[in-house]
Formats: sequence, C-alpha cells, structure tokens
Amino acid sequence: MSASTDRSVRGPRAQSLLDEVMRRIEVERVAVVYKGDSSLHRLIDRALRLVTFGGMQTYLTDYVTTIGRTIYVPDDWDRTPPGRRWETLEHELVHVRQFERFGLVGMALLYLLVPLPMGLAWCRARLEWEAYAVTLRCVAELEGIEAARDPSFHEEIVRRFTGPDYGYMWPFARAVRRWIAGELATIERTLAVH
Ligand SMILES: [Zn+2]
Repeated sequence: MSASTDRSVRGPRAQSLLDEVMRRIEVERVAVVYKGDSSLHRLIDRALRLVTFGGMQTYLTDYVTTIGRTIYVPDDWDRTPPGRRWETLEHELVHVRQFERFGLVGMALLYLLVPLPMGLAWCRARLEWEAYAVTLRCVAELEGIEAARDPSFHEEIVRRFTGPDYGYMWPFARAVRRWIAGELATIERTLAVH
C-alpha cells in the first residue's frame, strides 16, 4: 500500500501526521494535559451542566478544550486513533492562534459573551468555524475527499453549532451547511491544483 492510499486513522500515515504535529506543539511550547486533572475544568463542567439544564454532560469526557497555550484532552485520549488525535490537535492549534491574536481576556469575552453567551453566540461560532474549517481540511487530507464530503460528518458539525454542545451557539443549520459547502469547494479547488 502506498502512502497516498493509506487513508486509515490508525495507519502509519496517520501516526506520522500525529508525530509531526506533536513535534510542532513541543517546539511552540504548547502544553497537552488531561482535562480531568484540572480543577478549573471540573468547575466548568459543573457550570455547564447547570446552564444547559443537564444538556451538556460530557464536557470532561468527550471534549478537547484549549485555553491560552494549553490543550486539555479527555482521559481516553491515548486510546483515540492517531489520525483523530491529529485532526483534533490541528483544530485546537487554531484556537491557540486565536488566543495569541485576541489575548486571554479578549478571547474569553468574544468566546463566552458576544453577543450572547448562549443561543446567539456569533463570535464563538465564527471562532469555532475557523477551527472546524481546519478539521474539514484535515479529514480531506488524511481520510480523503469522500470522507470530507460525507453528509453524516457534515451533520455532526451542524449539530455542534446548533445543539447543546457549545450552548446552541449558532442555531441556523442552513447557514452552517453553507459554510461547510464553501470550505469544501475551496478544499476541492486546492486538491485540483496538485
Ligand atoms: Zn474548537
């Protein structure tokens, strides 16, 4: 099997992409730590359960969260397929850049409060979209354009924007589907050049 046909998230190509991003993370002095070990995240978990009326129960176990130059990963991180870890870390590195751009306070304000903390969180939706565009690009690069085109994958992204995961940050599914379609078109153009 040639390197270009190794689309597996558990294959050698996935592992080398993960190794490469881990090297970059080390050089940039970004920390990767377990979320469950952080008292801040245990506090956020309790707060999220309250404000979402129990809609969000998996903050500690299912979500990777970045604050500043620290990427907090769930306890089962090491059992996650290398390709998925790579895709996730590239997404989180976008958030690291955003923290560099806006600062800790600026990022907290934009991410949490503008214009509303829930239901209509335009800034959070745009910051997340910038990172999900990279997720889409990574899936296309490792798993192939067909995987990036998969409607069930798109609906998973749509659900994240419109559902309780991020406090119903942008509950307009058609808009999110339009963003995905636009990014896919860009990815396909980029691929066509090669
Ligand atoms: Zn994100």
